[in-house]
Parts: sequence; C-alpha cells; structure tokens
Amino acid sequence: MGDVAILGVPHDKNSSFMRGPAQAPAEIRRVMHAGSANLCTERGRDLGAQPNLHDVGDISFANSADDFAHITAVVDEVLKTGARLLTLGGDHAITFPIMRAVAQHFRPLTIVQIDAHPDLYDELDGNRLSHACPFARIMEAGLVDRLIQTGVRTLNPHQREQAARFGVEIIEMKDWTADALPAINTPVYLSLDLDGLDPAFAPGVSHHEPGGFTTRQVLDLIQNFPAQIIGADVVELNPTRDPIWMTAMVAAKLAKEIAEKMLEGVEGRETG
Ligand code: MN
Ligand code: MN
Repeated sequence: MGDVAILGVPHDKNSSFMRGPAQAPAEIRRVMHAGSANLCTERGRDLGAQPNLHDVGDISFANSADDFAHITAVVDEVLKTGARLLTLGGDHAITFPIMRAVAQHFRPLTIVQIDAHPDLYDELDGNRLSHACPFARIMEAGLVDRLIQTGVRTLNPHQREQAARFGVEIIEMKDWTADALPAINTPVYLSLDLDGLDPAFAPGVSHHEPGGFTTRQVLDLIQNFPAQIIGADVVELNPTRDPIWMTAMVAAKLAKEIAEKMLEGVEGRETG
C-alpha cells in the first residue's frame, strides 16, 4: 500500500495582481483543524485516521537561491519515496516547477485543470513564470501528454492561439455539462485553481471571475472522477480576501475529497 503526502508551497512571488496565496497553506490547515468541521470525507473516510496519509509540512524558501528549482527538488524528493503528492498552494505559478518533478515519475500523464483562466500566456508583465503562464511552460517542455481545461471563461485571442498551438482541450464554462469531460486513458494530475469556482462560493481569491462552478459541481467532479488521480494541487486561495474563512473551508473540503481519491489510487481501489 502506498502513501499520499500533503505538502504546502507558500509562494506567491509570481502573482500578477495581488499577493496573499503564500499564506494559504497555513490557513487551509488551520480551518481544517479548527474544530468547526470533522475530518471525514462525504463518503465516510476519516482522514484523521489514515496511516498512509502524511502531512509533510511546508516548503521553506528561507535559504533558496532559485525558488522554482527548490520546489522541483523538494517535490522530487517526496515522489522518490513512492508517495503521491497533494500540494496546497501558493499561486498557480507553482504548478510548473511541481510538474517538472511529477513528469519524471508518471508518464503518460494528463493534466485536468479547473480554472477560470487558461494560464497560457507566453508572458505577463514581462514575467514568463507568472501565475498566468504555467501551462504554456508545461506544454513547451512536453511535461504531459494531454492538457484538459475546464471552468475557463476568460479566453482572449492570444490565449486562444496558445491553446491551439499546444493542442489544449478546453471545455469552456459556458459549455459545461456533468458528462462533458472526454474519456481519459492515462493517470491524471488534477490542478485546481479555486477561482474556477464562482466568486459566490469562493470569494477569497485574487481574481474574481463571475459565472463559475458551484462547490457542489466540483465535489461531484472529484467524487466521480473518470481516471486515477496520481497528483494534485489546490491553488490561489488568498486569505487576505477571506475574512470569514469561507473560501479556506471550500479549499479544505475539496482537498479532503481529492485526498480520498488519491488514497483509493494507492490502495488499488481507484475506479478510473
Ligand atoms: Mn490558474
Ligand atoms: Mn485562475
């Protein structure tokens, strides 16, 4: 039986509009253990009693010369133990250095990204590592075989061009139905940007984009996921915009449900 590790990546230096997501890993853990809710998933698994689920803490950037190289190295160390990794961000920029390590351990591989934005900019404000760019970098580097995006509702001409160039499969939010995901024949890395949800459900993010998923829709998607989830991240919680913990609770709940799916995978009980 394998392990699932939870790792915090408190990093938001590549956020374009406002900082804050560096505070998110601590905030998600705080609400998860605050006593207002229990640690059971909806299907009844007590995550507080899983010997193969480990919180390995946060990455420290105190002495890092190159933060992205450091993220890749730490993720690689965790994956080398045989564990699968659920990361708590941080902004979405961290998914590129994470995938540099994940791609060394899992191929073929598909990313399913839930996000209001495609994050396919070639550069933003002169920064090619911006949180608006990670999926352009991932596709350029050939780190995955397939990228499927959903929740997207902000495509502009440049990003449409980039999507066509990289062969990204986008199910735009306006076209979403419960059976909209295509068949997936590889393991999946799930990248969950909380702004994929509607700001009514998840207001504590930097970029409010109306017209997104309900919390229930994302829970249903995770619980009925059509492939094995071998890695995941939950990114873009901005605690500075979340005074009543509302979005942190959404992040914690979605992380719990993702962790359960990943545990089923390492236990050989995946349904996908
Ligand atoms: Mn994003
Ligand atoms: Mn986004």
